[in-house]
Amino acid sequence: MRKRTMKRLTVKRRPFGFLEGVRFTGILYQFSITNGSRAPERPHDTACYSLIDYVWLKLLIELDTKMSFSFYKKIAIDLGTANSLVYVVGEGVVLEEPTVVAVSLNDGKVLAVGHEAQKMLGRTPGNIKASKPMRDGVIADYAVTEAMLKYFLRKVGAYGLMKPEVMICVPAGVTQVERRAVLGAAMEAGARNAYLIEEPLAAAIGAGVPISEPSGNMVLDMGGGASEAAVISLGGVVTFKSVRVAGNRIDEAISKYVRRKHNLVIGETTAESIKIKIGSAMPSSKEEAMEVTGRDSITGLPKQIHLSSVEVFEAMREPLGKIIQMLKTVMEEVPPELSSDIIDKGIVMTGGTAQLKSFDRLITQETGVPAFVAEDPLRCVIKGIGIAIENLDVYARSIKK
Ligand code: ADP
Ligand code: MG
Repeated sequence: MRKRTMKRLTVKRRPFGFLEGVRFTGILYQFSITNGSRAPERPHDTACYSLIDYVWLKLLIELDTKMSFSFYKKIAIDLGTANSLVYVVGEGVVLEEPTVVAVSLNDGKVLAVGHEAQKMLGRTPGNIKASKPMRDGVIADYAVTEAMLKYFLRKVGAYGLMKPEVMICVPAGVTQVERRAVLGAAMEAGARNAYLIEEPLAAAIGAGVPISEPSGNMVLDMGGGASEAAVISLGGVVTFKSVRVAGNRIDEAISKYVRRKHNLVIGETTAESIKIKIGSAMPSSKEEAMEVTGRDSITGLPKQIHLSSVEVFEAMREPLGKIIQMLKTVMEEVPPELSSDIIDKGIVMTGGTAQLKSFDRLITQETGVPAFVAEDPLRCVIKGIGIAIENLDVYARSIKK
């Protein structure tokens, strides 16, 4: 009886025993060739031998590489309000698309995802709906998010020999229900295992911050829908705050200002390009300006105006003030020991909105703590999730299943 149980266990633990056998034979074969023990005896056999050896070796090396690797892909996903990124372990960041999905209202089918769907935003006929399924970093439309995940996984070739292992980030403040929704969507999309990591932790890992040390680190991630500040120590979030003010709200503030001051109606994309081109979080010594085209709110006709950076600065004041306020609240809640670490190390800024001109200077001036933008801020989170899924054991304390 005991014998049979043991046998069953052995079989269960080594489902790919036969492949290991192949690998072992391969290694032995490689070894015998490199040691010359299989040298051809007859000279005219040499060409034939070496060709066979070459093909066989190629095959074995290929197999060997695959074997020391895993049979399934390990995939990191950053489902942002504005942009979604996918990272495949061993390949790097393989996909970067806007988080937009176009769905047919007739049969609920997904028609386009990412760049293609973004082109449809605001231009769809009655039977198509182009929407952004993530709001403030959490799922606003479950079915659409699941379809989008499936699309991403298919596009990066995740459904190979076996189902992939997937890790997704969620904002630090999400509820248990929201966590389960993200995990559920990943499993429904065909993951063999799904893990979650809190966004500030991923941002910090991606920015090269040593999160596991017993020392305080402050990360400020500002994306499209939300800004989140967190203090991290010993691989966990000690305290955090988030505010639903980030890139989108800054764009809206610019649109409102232009409408109020110039009676000009502009679209989301125009407002965003004004922000990126001439927006600055602090008044700059060199005044810039640009021509902005839109629709006159009174006559309804197309109109062009001259907009200066001073005006844009004025327009952005309120949303930027809200982010600073949130940051100050977090700082007030930090335990004193960690406060001194933060003053020493500064605040690391990540996310697209961290790229707003002079934002680091404004934060330094307002909080008295040096702030600096991480390298490649748009990709810090995805890189961090990628590093975490690649080193599950190292970051076990920061990962949730
Ligand atoms: P999310 O994580 O929410 O998807 P991202 O981190 O991708 O957001 O950042 C997207 C936001 O960053 C958008 O609101 C975009 O306008 C803003 N952004 C991108 N580049 C710049 C820039 N150079 N200056 C200011 N804002 C920027
Ligand atoms: Mg983000």
